[in-house]
Amino acid sequence: MAVAHYNNGNCQERMNMNSCDGCTACCKTMKIQELNKPADTWCQHCTIGEGCGIYDTRPESCRVYECIWLQTQRGAKPLALELRPDKSRVVMGVTNQGDDLVLYLSPDRPDAWKRGGIARIVAETRAKGFTVMIKCGDRLQTL
Ligand code: SF4
Ligand code: SF4
Repeated sequence: MAVAHYNNGNCQERMNMNSCDGCTACCKTMKIQELNKPADTWCQHCTIGEGCGIYDTRPESCRVYECIWLQTQRGAKPLALELRPDKSRVVMGVTNQGDDLVLYLSPDRPDAWKRGGIARIVAETRAKGFTVMIKCGDRLQTL
């Protein structure tokens, strides 16, 4: 599994779009093998709400990871800032070769996916016939 990709703010392309700035959600949510960091635990190198303390030497999985919200920022239909994981409290990813949607939730906010824009994305994804899964703590549940 992977984790955070930060925008250091030194790339003009990144500065012109919504970015990770201010979001460090995946640095808590995701398991990071290289650091022996379990899921749902803040990385020891994370300054919450700011970024990575070892940005230049962060593990490969951190370098390559982009949540769905971040991926959409390069496209024609970027998801709204309010859906960024630090605000929505849902980190969205895919599995099964990109076919299924996975929502990574914090155990302290297990219902975060049930409201607003995330709920709409879930409904639309299911209406198209794709599977939506919820990962909360040790539990992986298919909706
Ligand atoms: S959860 Fe997404 S937007 Fe937030 S820091 Fe990770 S990759 Fe960036
Ligand atoms: S090493 Fe950096 S990017 Fe990776 S989880 Fe820790 S704080 Fe986040």
